[in-house]
Amino acid sequence: MPKLLVIGGAGYIGGHMVSQLVKAGHHVVVLDDLSTGFQTAIDESHAQLVVGDVGDRNLLNALFKADRYDGVLHFASLIQVGESVVKPARYYRSNVANTLTLLEAMVEHDVGPLIFSSTAAVFGEPEYSPIDEAHRQAPINPYGASKYMVERMLEDFDHAYGLKSVALRYFNAAGADPSGQIGERHDPETHLIPLALHAVLGARPPLKVFGRDYPTPDGTCVRDYIHVTDLAEAHLRALEYLWAGKPTTRFNLGNGNGFSVQEVLNAVERVTGQRVPYEDAPRRGGDPANLVADSRAAKSVLGWCPQYGELDTIVEHAWAWEQKRVKLT
Ligand code: UDP
Repeated sequence: MPKLLVIGGAGYIGGHMVSQLVKAGHHVVVLDDLSTGFQTAIDESHAQLVVGDVGDRNLLNALFKADRYDGVLHFASLIQVGESVVKPARYYRSNVANTLTLLEAMVEHDVGPLIFSSTAAVFGEPEYSPIDEAHRQAPINPYGASKYMVERMLEDFDHAYGLKSVALRYFNAAGADPSGQIGERHDPETHLIPLALHAVLGARPPLKVFGRDYPTPDGTCVRDYIHVTDLAEAHLRALEYLWAGKPTTRFNLGNGNGFSVQEVLNAVERVTGQRVPYEDAPRRGGDPANLVADSRAAKSVLGWCPQYGELDTIVEHAWAWEQKRVKLT
């Protein structure tokens, strides 16, 4: 049974990953400092939780000495574009310096391969759409730059030290596990679908639509929403790819369909049967008009086959989770 270290496994995407790895029969150890993750995201009867910081070299040494890992999945990171603009030091420390510490420890202890959580933000303003892996990388904020820097380090660490890795660029992760047991939870929440659902539930003020003057068909930003369960599945495929001895690479992960903010609100209204209270607001800084993935490479090379490509299905699963959460709190 392969043994995997999942860093950031108590977060949104990491938590869904742990659940899938456990279902697939893998032995999972989670390293998470619980700064943004939640202990309750981990079923500790199935996965061991180590509370600690990925930048703590002594802790990494102890983990890698204590156990032989067949791979590492690194989800732990700061993810807010706006915050990264005003606090770049925090982002470079957490996302770049801590990941460098991890890479050094992996090389020293001969641990690998690595699956790294990257982002569409490594591309900056798209020059064409959909965005494939050959697209120029020119991030326009410190968050995207921090992920781009790690992608560069991964290439160099493979070249110099033979550390194999796959970087997965997520477009807009959304939805929740179809079981309804786990789902999206950020504090503060900044993402469109949970905020729209919270507005429907009356748990938050009306949603602000950030900009109706973009060069898109209805003037609102277009994004590629990809179900979190499909994202997790891509990681399993990427691990199998690396275990088969294939080379270090990166893939863009999305559905290849763009939906505008207004179309997402329409989907939320179809699924919930209720109006979304919203108001128009100015553009949010750092938002490109249109981000859509070309994921043909992940499909053909990894055999990745997203199951929940319909926007309404993504919203349905998110809605089931949010209703459950509201009852719990
Ligand atoms: N958005 C919005 N109101 C909100 C949150 C998001 O209009 O309260 C828009 C945002 O400007 C972007 C899209 O919804 O165009 C998706 O934003 P989100 O923060 O969910 O993901 P991002 O694209 O930033 O990764």
